[in-house]
Amino acid sequence: MESFEASLAAREAGDEAEVLRLLAEAFRFESAAADSVVGDISLEPTRSVLYRSAASIALQMFDTQTAKRYVDKGLQGQPPEEIKEELQTLSDRIIILEAETRDYRLKAPVGPTPVQTVIRKYTDNVPVDIYGLADALGVAVMEADLGMNAGEIFRDILRGGFSGYSIRVNAADPKVRKRYTVGHELAHFLRHRDRVKNRLVDDRMYRSGIEKTLEYEADALAADLLMPRRKIAQFRAEGLNSAEQLAAKFDVSLAAMRRRLGMKGPLR
Ligand SMILES: [Zn+2]
Repeated sequence: MESFEASLAAREAGDEAEVLRLLAEAFRFESAAADSVVGDISLEPTRSVLYRSAASIALQMFDTQTAKRYVDKGLQGQPPEEIKEELQTLSDRIIILEAETRDYRLKAPVGPTPVQTVIRKYTDNVPVDIYGLADALGVAVMEADLGMNAGEIFRDILRGGFSGYSIRVNAADPKVRKRYTVGHELAHFLRHRDRVKNRLVDDRMYRSGIEKTLEYEADALAADLLMPRRKIAQFRAEGLNSAEQLAAKFDVSLAAMRRRLGMKGPLR
């Protein structure tokens, strides 16, 4: 693992070429180790751990095909539950990275795009795992003292996820507010990345200086992510009707849920 650790140091120093060279070296060791136990599923959990490492390093080198091959092989064994979950998370990241590098402008995809499929997966259980979704989309989330601001999204080669972006939320905010901020900033990432350039800072009212219509879009998408209508309908059918009950269930503020249900009042 020495070359992998050295690659982290190179990343710290901002030397991208050196990072890739050291990752390639680390990958040679990891893949050789994984390949040596390919047919022997009696070697679990060692076997799936080796496949996970090889897949993870391949992904950091943006080699999605190789990463996918190692994830699939890892899942073919008998991985322990937690390694299986990690392999599945890697699989989500591979889907996103592949989608990022594909060009949809010439030919619209049939059915949901890979990104939509991943979003669907992370918004299908309530409360929505908004931090897990950020991770799967390759966006790191951190907390910081942001003074009067709610949150921000920025280019972050050093500590960002594989998308190269990070979100910071105001550490002083309550949990439901932080979750909303992650949703709002992720919406900017998904819809307005071309406008973010280096950094977008949202104030207490989630206004960042870009057009108001874009902020409305970000608020609407944040609500879709955190309070999917199909899930609200499901709970209402089960008899959960008050805004208070639903807000608690979805782990959002009462104001946000009231707005979602079409009641008047503040947005969040
Ligand atoms: Zn905003």
